[in-house]
Amino acid sequence: MIIKYINVQCSMCEKVSSQKKVLSYSTLGTPNLDLKPNGSITSIASSLNKCPYCHYTNYDISQTKALKGFLEELEYKEIVNNKNLSEDAIKAMLMQYITNYFRDYNESYKWAIRSSWTLEDINEKEMANRYKEKATDIFFNSIFIKNLTMLTQAIDTARQIKKFDFSSKMANNTKKLLELCDNLVEKEKHQIKVLKYIEELCINKDSDKHNILESYENEVN
Ligand SMILES: [Zn+2]
Repeated sequence: MIIKYINVQCSMCEKVSSQKKVLSYSTLGTPNLDLKPNGSITSIASSLNKCPYCHYTNYDISQTKALKGFLEELEYKEIVNNKNLSEDAIKAMLMQYITNYFRDYNESYKWAIRSSWTLEDINEKEMANRYKEKATDIFFNSIFIKNLTMLTQAIDTARQIKKFDFSSKMANNTKKLLELCDNLVEKEKHQIKVLKYIEELCINKDSDKHNILESYENEVN
């Protein structure tokens, strides 16, 4: 991972702080069915800026102007002051809170998923599942335009929180819909395999993490 530090002025409190900027990073191996990269995912949230004074968090805290109200919300403060969490988990969760507060549901969904991943990495399984719950709620209730990759990710996230019935139905319906289409491209054929595998895992009541490669091995057997 290549990192540099830059001085950034917070647009909320106008104080200057040094912020980490991740220039490049590498991930190893096959991602999970929910697209969580294999190995450490530290880099996912560490590229976010977080003001050490007012705790405003965003991609770039100098550029983004927002209403200050949420900084005083109890839930926001509770995340900031949670001593059991890693700095990356806190950043991801604050970003999820802010984007949800401003009803940016695509971003809010994305950061709910990422919060759950950073929480899994520090063994906060229960809290990770709460974020998976948030993610599936946002995805199926608030996001209007969905794409196939995101849909598959949300279906697998539902499986991980043991919503087996819902997850298998969604996987099956999406798979069938794809199979009805002519001229499928590689990406869609790949999603059919992944969806088929998710459906089988649901039938076996398996809520563990599994990787994408297994869906191909599963097909051969
Ligand atoms: Zn600030």
